[in-house]
Amino acid sequence: MTDALFDAKPSLKKQNRLPLNPDAESKGRFPRWLHMPMLKGENLFSTDAVLKEYRLNTVCEEAKCPNRLECYSKKTATFLLLGKECTRACGFCEIDFAKTPKPPEEDEPIRISLSVKKLQLKHVVLTMVARDDLEDGGALHMVKVINSIRKENPGTTIEVLTSDFAGDLSSVDTVLKSRPEIFNYNIETVRRLTPTVRHKATYDRTLTLLSHIKASPEPTFVKSGLMIGLGETKEEVHETIRDLQIAGVDIITMGQYLQPSKRKLSVKEFILPETFKSYETYAYSVGIKHIYAGPFVRSSHNAAAILKIIHEKSLKADIISSYGNPTT
Ligand code: SF4
Repeated sequence: MTDALFDAKPSLKKQNRLPLNPDAESKGRFPRWLHMPMLKGENLFSTDAVLKEYRLNTVCEEAKCPNRLECYSKKTATFLLLGKECTRACGFCEIDFAKTPKPPEEDEPIRISLSVKKLQLKHVVLTMVARDDLEDGGALHMVKVINSIRKENPGTTIEVLTSDFAGDLSSVDTVLKSRPEIFNYNIETVRRLTPTVRHKATYDRTLTLLSHIKASPEPTFVKSGLMIGLGETKEEVHETIRDLQIAGVDIITMGQYLQPSKRKLSVKEFILPETFKSYETYAYSVGIKHIYAGPFVRSSHNAAAILKIIHEKSLKADIISSYGNPTT
């Protein structure tokens, strides 16, 4: 990899790594707005115990997400489907790479749906590794999980955060037909940086996929997110916001990129909170209906706010009443 993003001096790379425990590290390594108190609380331990009992992977735990206590206490969690190994190796992502990961586990749908019930989750995000080794990219497996959650938990809303299914729109349709309340596919970064940040996914294919979801007859909110602080310019961020608006995206999330390990892309810039605010203002000015931008915003975060949107639009009731009582 020859991109300039990998050319930072070792000292800078070290400076930009996310400390495992910010309280135990020098406070000087991060700007003040990126310090967060250590996570504590009953919800964290009880949720961890249920996830272990059902042998489940969550992005919340895998990524040691700083927002997880807040999400757990608001009865939301993000499950990682189809294993912990991915057939891609994106420059920002710490998930392990494997050319042929293990086959999908037949009992994963029921294990997830029972844990949703036990945790009384009101909103579930289902995300997945990219499974380029499977013919449908794992779409049918995701549908089985959705159906099982609906059967066991009729009041829970579902958001999917998918791969691009290698550009196969019929796999996208497979998931759309199961009518998730929110369909999320992240653009991740601006056009110029996409080849470095994402390797296999392309900027234009992302926009095609988002437009396709928006044009679907199945009612769903379209969501997409990006990380900033990777060396993009203000004009490039504005261009991406406009492109997402043209593609029909309803909800944008935008957060600070943090380097998960030395092997991954280094942070180029810590973005000021007021700059995030200015991007929000810009997005609203070009017609984006909902944007959540801030240093700690992650694509699965803000579920409480998103639930409010769903209730305002009465989409949940419409989807659940017309979906009936699906079986796995
Ligand atoms: S496709 Fe998704 S899970 Fe796989 S490496 Fe890229 S970001 Fe990580």
